[in-house]
Amino acid sequence: MRQSNLSKLSLFPLTKEVDSHGHLYIGGCDCVNLAKEYGTPLYVFDEATLRSKCQEFQTEFTKRYPNTLVIYASKAFLNRALAVILKEEGLGLDVVSGGEISVAHSVDFPNEKIYFHGNNKTADELKLALDWKIGRIVVDNFYELELLNTLAHKKIVKQSILLRLTPGIDPHTHRHTTTGILDSKFGFPLADGQAGTAVAQALSASNLDLKGFHFHLGSPIFDTAPFEIAISLVLNFAREMKTNHDFHLDEFSPGGGFAVKYTVDSQTPSIADYAEAITAKVTSLASELELTHPKLIVEPGRAIVAQAGVALYTVGSIKEIPGVRKYVCVDGGIGDNIRPALYEAKYEAIVANKASDGSNTVTIAGRYCESSDILAQDVSLAPVSVGDIIAMPIGGAYSIPMASNYNLVPRPAIIMVKEGKARLIRKRESYQDLLRLDLI
Ligand SMILES: *Cc1c(COP(=O)(O)O)cnc(C)c1O
Repeated sequence: MRQSNLSKLSLFPLTKEVDSHGHLYIGGCDCVNLAKEYGTPLYVFDEATLRSKCQEFQTEFTKRYPNTLVIYASKAFLNRALAVILKEEGLGLDVVSGGEISVAHSVDFPNEKIYFHGNNKTADELKLALDWKIGRIVVDNFYELELLNTLAHKKIVKQSILLRLTPGIDPHTHRHTTTGILDSKFGFPLADGQAGTAVAQALSASNLDLKGFHFHLGSPIFDTAPFEIAISLVLNFAREMKTNHDFHLDEFSPGGGFAVKYTVDSQTPSIADYAEAITAKVTSLASELELTHPKLIVEPGRAIVAQAGVALYTVGSIKEIPGVRKYVCVDGGIGDNIRPALYEAKYEAIVANKASDGSNTVTIAGRYCESSDILAQDVSLAPVSVGDIIAMPIGGAYSIPMASNYNLVPRPAIIMVKEGKARLIRKRESYQDLLRLDLI
């Protein structure tokens, strides 16, 4: 097997194998057979990798800081089968909409471990959260603070909340995914005193119980330093609030944004590196500032699901422009994965039925009517022909949840694989599904 293919294989789920015919296996299932049986585009999730990532986060954090709750950020990908696995693994859930709350509710996800985020939750969503006794609502702004207090008052409940603070730290990620800088739509800025006003207001609200603070800097964050700097700012602020308002920080969340390797040459901290940096900073600083060590909430999304997912596509037309570029066109694209077009995200790929072969340079193009619909530019692939199956690793995060019906193409099926067995966890959409809500 070529060296480049060996290193590319490291990006695939933990259970990947290549058989003597050069077929890629995930979770004991031949990807070529999966493509045949379920059709393409197909998203394959490896249950072993999902569970392993959940456990790695829990272990790495709790061995350093026992009072940690790992909550999965649903927006990276949520589905009922996944919610069941997260529940079994003991994780909590970070949700951002009534839809995500409904999925959690449908599998009896423990309410007290659900944290509801968002910069413009609607009154209906907040009522739903109150009715279903969602554990924490992470209040983002003054409008929500007042609205939630009024709604909770009407329902005669006291709702536990965190405040989302904006520490004013630039984590140097893509400008579309940075959230912790001062000029952000999210959170109460620390810098201009709004955060202090919010604390005073929350403490005096009759039907709110302020448990602590949250921040989220953006995603992905390739360095541990932004976390450490922001933790320092927010814990110092907590100390100030203790002095000024006798406020006790019971809970503290430094958010998510843990990076994963999408390509063989990218460098990212390990889960252990993030855990070490975050827990060491919280532990030392809380002691120094004479704060009771708060419960720590960490919110990985991408880092739990990204590696577990693989996208499979079938090759159709191949267009060669001599001396310029060879386009290999597949049956998916921005409709199931908008990340390359939206964030200039980079992906690797292999030919699932020629997984041990190398390499000529091609560009993998999608089937949608947009020039920006390019899934991977200048990747090295085995010589391809019509009908070959392309496998793209690190497909588990932020692709399916941003899928659309652009060009009225039905969205793909999703399967879960484990120990040689595959099960459908989301049906492929049909034309009937597309017409179902459409009226003349
Ligand atoms: C998106 C988000 C996360 C998760 O980010 P990842 O990069 O997927 O880990 C966590 N917390 C909040 C508030 C978010 O908005």
